[in-house]
Amino acid sequence: MMRVVFAILLVLELFGALAYALPKGLKGKKGQPQPSGSSATSKTTKTKDKTSTPVFLPSHWVKTPYKNCNAEKTEMINNWITDAYNMTYEADRITSDNPAFERYFFREDFPKFKTMIQSFNSRAGLPGDEGKYNLACAEYKTGSPCQTEGEWAITPTNVNIIYFCPTMLYSVFSKVPYSSKPFDKSPNGWCHPEYLRSSHHPSHVYVHEMTHLMLHGLRLGFPVRDYTDGTNPRKAASKLKSNFTYLLAQWEQSQPRQGRPPLNPIRNAESYASTIIDFYFAQKCGSDFLW
Ligand SMILES: [Zn+2]
Repeated sequence: MMRVVFAILLVLELFGALAYALPKGLKGKKGQPQPSGSSATSKTTKTKDKTSTPVFLPSHWVKTPYKNCNAEKTEMINNWITDAYNMTYEADRITSDNPAFERYFFREDFPKFKTMIQSFNSRAGLPGDEGKYNLACAEYKTGSPCQTEGEWAITPTNVNIIYFCPTMLYSVFSKVPYSSKPFDKSPNGWCHPEYLRSSHHPSHVYVHEMTHLMLHGLRLGFPVRDYTDGTNPRKAASKLKSNFTYLLAQWEQSQPRQGRPPLNPIRNAESYASTIIDFYFAQKCGSDFLW
């Protein structure tokens, strides 16, 4: 069974290598309408029901093997990657008037947001390994990228590598990817708001980290950083949008200027991640799920 699936994926992989841009034609031909069990229970009224079946193996996106990750961790990470690209593929359907977008971004941010999504889905528009990045597992110790206990992952903005820290590798959801349970309101299902509020599912964090990769920063024209305000990242990203104009005016009026100007949402990693995950959940769980 798995062997057959892998063989199919391998063919798709080869196809993708030839046309390394977002394989729209491929998805179109193969994709619809292939109901994924979970969305059958969704209340959304969709015009198009694209499948979330992973189109590529993780090795389509990242260089292998992953540094300092054993077989168990590698398998775990592969599931996060599958989740992440399922979500970024879905995110290509987000429009500038979608509530998931408006919650975190200004309307004028949309072209850059779209550039980021397309950069994810096309491996930054680069052929083969040039569009791939490295992954590594790390410990909390002197000289390690993971410096502080509790850090989930580190993605330096000037290289193309994501370091996973122990908190992420051993979190309660590490072995529970989104693809492992149904998107419904059953006790076991994902359609419960608390799963979103925490914004600490490894697959969510994975999408967040991807925005920091230099590959995508180059496409955008600037590195993507982190805005924090002490609340959870998703809440902070939402507040950044709603308070940005006020924060900027406050900064401009401060004499002398205090600190740096507030981070624009389009430069904030979690604004992208939360939009992508919120949209995904709304698609899977019903549009009334979040708002
Ligand atoms: Zn970050």
